[in-house]
Amino acid sequence: MEIVKNVVCPFCGTLCDDIICKVEGDEIVGTMNACRIGHSKFVHAEGAERYKKPLMRKNGEFVEVSMEEAIDKAATVLAESKRPLMYGWSCTDCDAQAVGVELAEEAKAIIDNTASVCHGPSVLALQDVGYPICTFGEVKNRADVVVYWGCNPFHAHPRHLSRHVYGRGFFRERGKPDRTLIVVDPRESDSSKLADIHLQLDYNKDYELLDAMRAVILGHEILYDEVAGIPKETIYEAVDVLKNAQFGVLFFGMGMTHTRGKHRNIDTAICMVTDLNDSAKFTLIPMRGHYNVTGFNQVCTWESGYPYCVDFATGSARYNPGESGSNDLLQNKETDGMMVIASDPGAHFPQKAIERMAEIPVIAIEPHRTPTTEMADIIIPPAIVGMEAAGTAYRMEGVPIRMRKVVDIDLLSDKEILERILARVKEINASK
Ligand code: SF4
Repeated sequence: MEIVKNVVCPFCGTLCDDIICKVEGDEIVGTMNACRIGHSKFVHAEGAERYKKPLMRKNGEFVEVSMEEAIDKAATVLAESKRPLMYGWSCTDCDAQAVGVELAEEAKAIIDNTASVCHGPSVLALQDVGYPICTFGEVKNRADVVVYWGCNPFHAHPRHLSRHVYGRGFFRERGKPDRTLIVVDPRESDSSKLADIHLQLDYNKDYELLDAMRAVILGHEILYDEVAGIPKETIYEAVDVLKNAQFGVLFFGMGMTHTRGKHRNIDTAICMVTDLNDSAKFTLIPMRGHYNVTGFNQVCTWESGYPYCVDFATGSARYNPGESGSNDLLQNKETDGMMVIASDPGAHFPQKAIERMAEIPVIAIEPHRTPTTEMADIIIPPAIVGMEAAGTAYRMEGVPIRMRKVVDIDLLSDKEILERILARVKEINASK
């Protein structure tokens, strides 16, 4: 058995880079340091269906086809659709994403990633009011106040707490005893059970609570006995902890971006963090979900000027979330051909969007059988980044980390598949 050290986990935005893989032949048979979710990605699950050949739906049945035929059909769908949509991207590497942007421009497509159903509202907010962020290293070494607002890292980013709350740092030698942990969540979650202060607010009332906290930070009284179900004395106490932080950090998640107010919740949270810097040092970090959702927004921004929902229909990049987001295009029945890569909208989009997916040609660049591949007309299986292919990913606070190839597989990488589709789309366009 071979031991491979310093492997990067291709699952969540924590992007742990201390994983040890146990390898037998061309198979990862075990891991060390990975959490349960990370481990299950590395180790092949008995019975899970892994595609090894391209498939195409013919007369309602999937049949194996050559890579050339699958690439040609995928390119034809993109080149001939009037409003092609290219969605996904958050579970592949930055080089593949860069080819994707070039392909979207060539196909006059809309390119969009999972941000539009995740931290897209955070992107809208930071474009309005700024982005006072720091890196994980600063949190580990300096933070004495850690807030998790609308997120449950115990379940969704399982090693986040051990690295940033329980971990010992240069100025926080004792780890957790040197830090105050605040969790804001309507539920009693496994994360809130670890908190020193749990603000168990009413569901959908984050904006009201943030506004009350901002008012107190700015020296005003709270006019009501309670706000969002939290007694005003508790709000005063929590604000006192925030204002007296030597170094505070606000991690925030879907409890803010998916509830009433969406980007306005994030907007006022950013303003609160900015206000806190009058008396404390305070920063924030969005709990980005997939391991390289951040990378797509970086790549797309430096290539096109915009982070997601980018529409190349006119030949130059336009950006208008609410019009050019994947769900907008599907639910408004605008898109007439869809390419999905490294994502599973068949499982995670609302019913109305999936109904449109069932009506149009769908290409899935995807290694496993999923609800999306069930709806697909063409399935092209790639090597999996971080296990079978190398590449760059960006951690949730924007630190780029090189993902390792641990084992060999006889499949093309996402980047190679996209390069071949791009070359074919160019040929089709040249012949028009
Ligand atoms: S916390 Fe996230 S990145 Fe770290 S091992 Fe678990 S799934 Fe992987």
